[in-house]
Amino acid sequence: LVYDVVVRPVTVADFACVTVAFEDKTELNEAGQMRRDFVANVSHELRTPLTAVLGFIETLLGPASEDDVARKRFLEIMSREAQRMNRIVGDLLSLSRVEAERRVRPTDQVDIPAVLRSVVSSLHPVAEAQGVDLILEGADGTEEVPGDHDQLTQVFTNLIENAIKYGGRDKEVHVCLTSHTVEPTMRSSAIRVDISDQGEGIATQHIPRLTERFYRVDSHRSREMGGTGLGLAIVKHILNRHRGRLRVESHVGQGSCFSVILPYE
Ligand code: ADP
Repeated sequence: LVYDVVVRPVTVADFACVTVAFEDKTELNEAGQMRRDFVANVSHELRTPLTAVLGFIETLLGPASEDDVARKRFLEIMSREAQRMNRIVGDLLSLSRVEAERRVRPTDQVDIPAVLRSVVSSLHPVAEAQGVDLILEGADGTEEVPGDHDQLTQVFTNLIENAIKYGGRDKEVHVCLTSHTVEPTMRSSAIRVDISDQGEGIATQHIPRLTERFYRVDSHRSREMGGTGLGLAIVKHILNRHRGRLRVESHVGQGSCFSVILPYE
């Protein structure tokens, strides 16, 4: 809280004014702090791969200029780091687009089983490369909810990609759709999609922070897997715009289940 508002106990109306000013200032300061933290995080995230690329350029121009083997290896590393920067910038753009539209309710009707079939089939090669069996259940028919087709595709892509990445090699990932569930906090009935893996799970203390930008349970592992730390922040913002929910249940040593709940109306 910010305590720099001078309170003058005069009339009841004055008190009301003071309260409003007080809350506004707090919010402004918090927003300012969040913006500063965000800019610092982005700079740090981009600087790390950029420093690596600059270092390898120096080496290629100097000591490694005649060494064909080293040159190939360094170019491969530079390409990986540049792709990483590209992914971070792409995710930042997605995030800012979703934030800009957050007050505009999506009005198209989106067929969720069709979205799931398409996402799962495009991620099959990724799963196969990890030896992961990607199984889709309950998504044969047609079930429409109001939404933005591309954004909901992104939600399921991010969550299924995570389940493949963090679920471990040679395991199963299940994507299961349940229609007409009753969600106590929603006015209408809803569609629920559970994405479950058999990975290491997530300790309870991390769960409330997973959707913060750049929050990672294990930074080294996330980077190694090509993660940007923005996937779940994007999911959260898209679901907010759709008045949807994200529920996370995880058991350390057994796996995690991320559930997306979307209202029919
Ligand atoms: P990242 O790009 O690092 O994957 P996300 O925002 O998608 O970023 O996820 C944030 C963090 O949440 C990840 O770094 C990882 O530690 C954790 N996480 C996400 N999904 C899973 C999962 N299915 N199992 C275990 N940990 C997960």
